[in-house]
Amino acid sequence: MSKQQLFQFLESPREMPAKVPLAERVAGSFDELYGRFGQAEAAHQAGRCLDCGNPYCEAKCPVHNYIPDWLQLVQEGRIIEAAALCHETNPLPEMCGRVCPQDRLCEGACTLNDGFGAVTIGAVEKYIVDTAFAQGWRPDLSKVKPTGKRVAVIGAGPAGLACADRLARSGIEATVFDRYEQIGGLLQFGIPSFKLDKAVIATRRAVLEGMGVRFRLGVDVGRDVGIAALLGEFDAVFLGLGAYRYTDGGLPGQELAGVLPALPFLVQNGRIVTGHDPHGRPIAGWEDQLALPDLRGKRVVVLGGGDTGMDCVRSAIRLGAASVTCAYRRDEANMPGSAREVANAREEGVQFLFNRQPQEIIGDGQARGVRMVETRLGEPDANGRRAAQPIPGSESVLDADVVIIAFGFSPRVPQWLQALGVQAQANGRLVVGGNGRLPYQTGHDALFAGGDCVRGADLVVTAVQEGRDAAASIARMLRGAKAIPLALTAA
Ligand code: FAD
Ligand code: SF4
Repeated sequence: MSKQQLFQFLESPREMPAKVPLAERVAGSFDELYGRFGQAEAAHQAGRCLDCGNPYCEAKCPVHNYIPDWLQLVQEGRIIEAAALCHETNPLPEMCGRVCPQDRLCEGACTLNDGFGAVTIGAVEKYIVDTAFAQGWRPDLSKVKPTGKRVAVIGAGPAGLACADRLARSGIEATVFDRYEQIGGLLQFGIPSFKLDKAVIATRRAVLEGMGVRFRLGVDVGRDVGIAALLGEFDAVFLGLGAYRYTDGGLPGQELAGVLPALPFLVQNGRIVTGHDPHGRPIAGWEDQLALPDLRGKRVVVLGGGDTGMDCVRSAIRLGAASVTCAYRRDEANMPGSAREVANAREEGVQFLFNRQPQEIIGDGQARGVRMVETRLGEPDANGRRAAQPIPGSESVLDADVVIIAFGFSPRVPQWLQALGVQAQANGRLVVGGNGRLPYQTGHDALFAGGDCVRGADLVVTAVQEGRDAAASIARMLRGAKAIPLALTAA
């Protein structure tokens, strides 16, 4: 590295790609917020990297991307090599570059964070892969030797897609099942287009199909096809089922008109924005039962401060709400969502009320407001999180016409898994590994699992990491196994 390069961060500030103008966003644009770097901008931002000998960014990235190495390749204009290197660790780099909470992960660990501004790692990752795909680059599987083994992947979310990618690279044929007609899981129907343009998912599908991955979509496993049939047809099965048990908080008044659960709200809105139905069939029927209310001129209150809550507040702004307030029971420093998304929400006009815990939604058939109590943070619990403790006598009512509940999700174990020796914790998370099992192997030898159904609702990049690493375990088992026990008692 030249001396000039070494000190580039002093002259060149951190810069993100240009955003959609604020006026367009508040007027209703759901276009992806951040534009794309050109080669010169990407190379310039990449050149700010200090190439630390022991890069903290790599350590903090859940898939341990070779970040300084591909930043160097971008500086040299070697984008195809950079794309190939990105894919060595990350099966879905263009998605992660867009939706990872980088301020908590790679960029949060960047050495330049101490006053200079972290390298824009996510935006460069997005630039590399978008550019390489646009130039026609595709992963090279020409040296992969087919093993003759076949694996079913249930769930076309990030965990399932990452697993399928790695299986294909190991010469194992992957067939991905999903109950919806489109791939992506929450990438497709949960995360709004202003964070992830859905055309990006269509490109990834074409790439995976080019690698030999097959899709059987609109198939609900357990209803349209039994697990016994899959275990009979395939050598192993990966479960990337996600986490869809909705946490409603049990608030009095949540049955009032104008009270909406977050995910159906986002799903319905996504349908309208994309102009088509991404679903083969509804999850437990609730999406189709929820007509999206007209938010124009309404006072919207969103309860919850995670990624889902941020997507709700920013969608509500775009849908013409008169005011949008996010109420969260801890302080800003303890919000689970990305700081970047909070900043974008503020810029778009969202108000934040921290240290407020909802007690009741009040109304007369229609929601009229939320009774809140102020909180202070107590001592850290066993997980290191400080509990929000209500302050007696601090109650007040926040007026609202629409209340969106975004308290989070947990996994639900389908009945058809329970009879197969697949165990779950009380919170619904599938138990994998340990006790002589391979990593990500469930209590049934041929069933592996990863992503939100194992971790609980988390992140795209952690689902990708688990899908990737589960594929390695499956390949290990298939290489070593003489026969795969199919100890089945249920369909
Ligand atoms: P999912 O993405 O949920 O995919 C599971 C798939 O399995 C689904 O497509 C489902 O249809 C399918 N499936 C389940 N059961 C069956 C069955 N029986 N038969 C057939 N198919 C089945 N993370 C981030 O990193 N950044 C963000 O900005 C972000 N924003 C989010 C916003 C919202 C609104 C939500 C809800 C989540 C967000 N997340 C974000 C979290 C992230 O989307 C998830 O952690 C991630 O998608 C989990 O991946 P997964 O593959 O485990 O599950
Ligand atoms: Fe950062 Fe996510 Fe990319 Fe890792 S995958 S380098 S955490 S944006």
